[in-house]
Amino acid sequence: MQTIDHGRHQDIRDAVRALCAEFPPEYHRKIDEARGYPEAFVDALTKAGWMAALIPEEYGGSGLGLTEASVIMEEINRSGGNSGACHGQMYNMNTLVRHGSEEQRQRYLPKIAAGELRLQSMGVTEPTAGTDTTKIKTTAVRKGDRWVINGQKVWISRIQHSDLMILLARTTPLDQVRKKSEGLSIFLVDLHEAQRKGMSVRPILNMVNHETNELFFDDLEIPAENLIGEEGQGFKYILTGLNAERVLIAAECIGDGYWFIDKVSAYAKERTVFGRPIGQNQGVQFPIAESFIEVEAANLMRYEACRLYDAGEPCGAQANMAKYLAAKASWEAANACIQFHGGFGFAAEYDVERKFRETRLYQVAPISTNLILSYVAEHILGLPRSF
Ligand SMILES: Cc1cc2nc3c(=O)[nH]c(=O)nc-3n(C[C@H](O)[C@H](O)[C@H](O)COP(=O)(O)OP(=O)(O)OC[C@H]3O[C@@H](n4cnc5c(N)ncnc54)[C@H](O)[C@@H]3O)c2cc1C
Repeated sequence: MQTIDHGRHQDIRDAVRALCAEFPPEYHRKIDEARGYPEAFVDALTKAGWMAALIPEEYGGSGLGLTEASVIMEEINRSGGNSGACHGQMYNMNTLVRHGSEEQRQRYLPKIAAGELRLQSMGVTEPTAGTDTTKIKTTAVRKGDRWVINGQKVWISRIQHSDLMILLARTTPLDQVRKKSEGLSIFLVDLHEAQRKGMSVRPILNMVNHETNELFFDDLEIPAENLIGEEGQGFKYILTGLNAERVLIAAECIGDGYWFIDKVSAYAKERTVFGRPIGQNQGVQFPIAESFIEVEAANLMRYEACRLYDAGEPCGAQANMAKYLAAKASWEAANACIQFHGGFGFAAEYDVERKFRETRLYQVAPISTNLILSYVAEHILGLPRSF
């Protein structure tokens, strides 16, 4: 299948594909069935240096851009795996690289690059605030050389497979700030220490094998030096991470999209009903062709978002649009794939139902489709604010 990205970053693609080939679909299927964590896979990615792609070379990483990082994530999903187990490391890293102090970078980045520490978690979402992030209720109050955290988070992923988390908390009450996006700060939390000192974790069983949790903070004390960047500016910093996250997830959806199209095309050529391959029927061909066109188009927006991000230019619009288009395209491809597998699409051994569940998540997280539409309507088209 000749695609838009054919030949782009081929060296990275070949190397990641070779690594992924050591973890065939059966591996990911078994992990999914056991609701386990692909420890060996993430370890192999870490040892090969892929999880440190965005860490600058002076801190032991490979100093690549978001474009290359997105290719790594895409290839994992394209191989039949699920980057959801490890993509946090990529976008969280950038928050530390771009906004952390030199001391924080020296202290954490080399260890993360060496695989001694994992920074897989980011705590933003809360049960009452939902998408209305500036209304979060988790607070951080400065007491001497500590910050004291109280509150609750929900849907915080990979806590059980991470050493560190980036946490968003309110440091100035909402009624005392000029703009609602001010007065929020981000912190680096040592998850092992936190679980001994006031943070409790309740896993959430969910539709995908995505390790995610409720977190409760009861007077959790963290050292003052764990504040990232300037106090009160955390919302701005978290947006950098969120843009990177959207672009990476767009790339994962592109990988999923190609996986579904490959899978269903192969099946439609081989499955014979009414004396001919099902793929000979245009009723079968057209939805597959349509989703291929949509994946290809989404891929162009993904590369544009990557280009802008790597150039340090504003990329909020392109990151959101890439995520929207790619999640939609992969979902269309998933539907065509499951539909034309007939009953077999529902059998775990075909991997279609697993990938179908996995790609469905991206209509909702990390930002739901409606919120992207709202962003485009208000911030790009200048339509009246809705909320
Ligand atoms: C498996 C999983 C993993 C996750 N991992 C993380 C994580 O690691 N860290 C983290 O911080 N969060 C994480 N999340 C949270 C995720 O980012 C949120 O679920 C998502 O942003 C949607 O927020 P919400 O669930 O609060 O929905 P709500 O904000 O309650 O919205 C519910 C629905 O209403 C719609 N809606 C709300 N307001 C409007 C409006 N004004 N106009 C139109 N439609 C509207 C939304 O589009 C959505 O479909 C995860 C979620 C899941 C399911």
